Amino acid sequence: MTTSIYSASALAAVLFSAGLTNALAQTILDLPPARPWSGRSEQLLVKPDDKWITPAEAADFKTTPRYAEVKAWLERLAAASPLLTIHTFGRTGEGRELLYVHASKGGPAKPIVLVQAGIHAGEIDGKDAGLLLLRDIARRGKDHLLDRVDLVFVPIYNIDGHEQLSAWNFPHLRGPAEKGREANARNLNLNRDYAKADAPETRAMIALLRELDPLLYIDCHVSEGFDMQYDVTFTYAGWGIYARHRATADWLQGRFGPAVTQALTQAGHIPTLYPSPIDTREPTKGIRYSPEGPRYSTGYGDFISVPTVLVENHMLKPYRQRVLGTYVLLEAALKIAAQDASRITAAKAMDRASRPAELLTRWTPAPQPIGWVEQFKGISFDTYLSPASGRLEQRWLGQPITFRMPIIGQQPTESVRLPKAWWVPAAQAEVLDRLRLHGIAFETLATPRTLHLDQVRLVGPKLLTPSEGRVPLAATFVHEVSAQTLPAGSVRVSADQPNGLLAAALLEPESQDSFLSWGFFPEILAPAPSTDDFVLAALGERLLATNSKVKAAFEAKLRAEPTFAADPNARLAWLYAHAGPGHPYRWQYPIARELN
Ligand SMILES: [Zn+2]
Repeated sequence: MTTSIYSASALAAVLFSAGLTNALAQTILDLPPARPWSGRSEQLLVKPDDKWITPAEAADFKTTPRYAEVKAWLERLAAASPLLTIHTFGRTGEGRELLYVHASKGGPAKPIVLVQAGIHAGEIDGKDAGLLLLRDIARRGKDHLLDRVDLVFVPIYNIDGHEQLSAWNFPHLRGPAEKGREANARNLNLNRDYAKADAPETRAMIALLRELDPLLYIDCHVSEGFDMQYDVTFTYAGWGIYARHRATADWLQGRFGPAVTQALTQAGHIPTLYPSPIDTREPTKGIRYSPEGPRYSTGYGDFISVPTVLVENHMLKPYRQRVLGTYVLLEAALKIAAQDASRITAAKAMDRASRPAELLTRWTPAPQPIGWVEQFKGISFDTYLSPASGRLEQRWLGQPITFRMPIIGQQPTESVRLPKAWWVPAAQAEVLDRLRLHGIAFETLATPRTLHLDQVRLVGPKLLTPSEGRVPLAATFVHEVSAQTLPAGSVRVSADQPNGLLAAALLEPESQDSFLSWGFFPEILAPAPSTDDFVLAALGERLLATNSKVKAAFEAKLRAEPTFAADPNARLAWLYAHAGPGHPYRWQYPIARELN
């Protein structure tokens, strides 16, 4: 077996360098063995001659349709059904129309279940599952699913990434043959962009979320990591237990999870709560449950009090099995949302009326497991020496094993108390734009006002490795209360609003998803203004001759800091800063905090 892997890898390298086609390359990619599977959900598939066969079914799930084909198929279905309408809700970076299908029986407005597929465009199971489900709602008697809720379905969220098909994208997924990319056309990962909202796709989705305010929001993905027996896994922000808003999380854990688990099990699938491995090479080290910020769909849903589900189908299950599992999950989700509509509405209202006093900003793995999965359904593996990496690599053997899996939780290490409000200068247009987009309420000062405010100074600011189109920044912070006169036009963002916790996550400097952490204020790191040396020298000389306090401080600094004393430019800059206003806001966080 070892020999065959060696030769396949060598062949792949030869074919790759020879520039042979992606389709050919795919046939020689070695994935671990698949477990045989059959289940009741296979009965959902139509016969090959069915007029409403979906493109993926027609291709026996070997390929997945491109954007134009999906759009044309949905338009044909909508033309044949009064239940379906197709809408656009924005444009991608490359100008493609973002589409959703609204499935509704009409009449008085009903609450909505919002499902999106392809935020990571290669993980496209949700698209083909949604097409099957819409077909069955429109043509095959499943319209009862719409008795009490509407379905809004986004077949492809990251369309630009979806259209860059290649066999080399997501090579860990067992089908379809060619897949799109993870990121959008600007190489932004849309599932890291909900807080900073840089991508046009994100801006369109946040606007859609605000417009629909769904009962339930489902984001369809495919996993990576390790082999296991489970085929359909799902989770929520903070695995439920670390959610920021309790009532919606309780509904997800108490009602959604059991309902879809039962439906999937009855249909022949093996569901579980998404197991995120600590160390894929040593699965027994455990799985991680952790809080999360609003950069993610699930984290964002939690912060805005919309019950949100992350679906993570298992990468090594065949595409057909994954699509069928997604279908079963979505159908069960529609049913439980319909059944619990008033409960969910009440949970959302309760969360939005809550006023959390603190925001957890840092955490660290807890020393002891917070629980155990007693019978984790794993897959056996061994290791072999890979000539490619030169070290031992994993080889999954396909045999089911069970073991006791520790659940690694987190303990809080830092949290911040929410202020009464934040004050944003009128010039911070990028911040104000994001606040408007997120639906965070604020008021604008008509006349100047003097207040005692907590002002935040950065200590040791450091730019981090560029990430997601930004240069993130890390620093420690010193808080000092002082009187500040706010000019007219200053913006007051109250923490006392339904989105108060989201405002905190964006505006508290210590927050990992704050605008500051994402690097929104590079101007505060710029050097102070300067001028010609002959002017600075004359100015400094005059200052030393006329201001004894400055002179004493200057001389003390010369004695204490030899490198400063030996640096003519630093000496002149120091004197210039003491002569006038210096940098208007060097290392100063521009947003002030109004304390309780
Ligand atoms: Zn994903």
